[in-house]
Amino acid sequence: MIFEKEKVKSKDCPYCTGKGYFQLLLGGSETCKHCHGSGKK
Ligand SMILES: [Zn+2]
Repeated sequence: MIFEKEKVKSKDCPYCTGKGYFQLLLGGSETCKHCHGSGKK
Protein backbone atom coordinates (compact mmCIF):
# COMPACT_ATOMS: atom_id res chain seq x y z
CA MET A 1 0.00 0.00 0.00
CA ILE A 2 1.06 3.48 -0.72
CA PHE A 3 0.73 5.99 2.04
CA GLU A 4 0.52 9.47 0.73
CA LYS A 5 2.18 12.13 2.75
CA GLU A 6 0.26 15.21 3.63
CA LYS A 7 -0.12 16.97 0.35
CA VAL A 8 -1.58 20.34 -0.31
CA LYS A 9 -5.17 19.63 -1.11
CA SER A 10 -6.85 21.50 -3.89
CA LYS A 11 -9.24 22.93 -1.37
CA ASP A 12 -6.47 24.48 0.63
CA CYS A 13 -5.23 27.96 0.07
CA PRO A 14 -2.26 27.75 -2.31
CA TYR A 15 -0.56 30.72 -0.71
CA CYS A 16 -0.27 29.41 2.81
CA THR A 17 -0.69 25.73 1.93
CA GLY A 18 -3.77 25.48 4.09
CA LYS A 19 -2.15 26.74 7.26
CA GLY A 20 -3.88 30.08 7.23
CA TYR A 21 -0.73 31.97 7.99
CA PHE A 22 2.76 32.57 6.75
CA GLN A 23 5.86 31.84 8.74
CA LEU A 24 8.01 34.90 8.58
CA LEU A 25 11.74 34.61 8.14
CA LEU A 26 12.32 37.27 10.73
CA GLY A 27 10.21 35.38 13.22
CA GLY A 28 6.57 35.19 14.06
CA SER A 29 3.74 34.63 11.69
CA GLU A 30 1.36 36.64 9.60
CA THR A 31 -2.23 35.78 8.82
CA CYS A 32 -2.71 34.89 5.20
CA LYS A 33 -4.46 37.67 3.36
CA HIS A 34 -5.79 35.36 0.69
CA CYS A 35 -7.83 33.09 2.91
CA HIS A 36 -7.96 35.34 5.97
CA GLY A 37 -6.54 32.67 8.20
CA SER A 38 -9.01 29.98 7.23
CA GLY A 39 -6.53 28.03 5.15
CA LYS A 40 -9.15 27.40 2.53
CA LYS A 41 -9.54 28.73 -0.92
ZN1 LIG B 1 -4.04 31.35 2.80
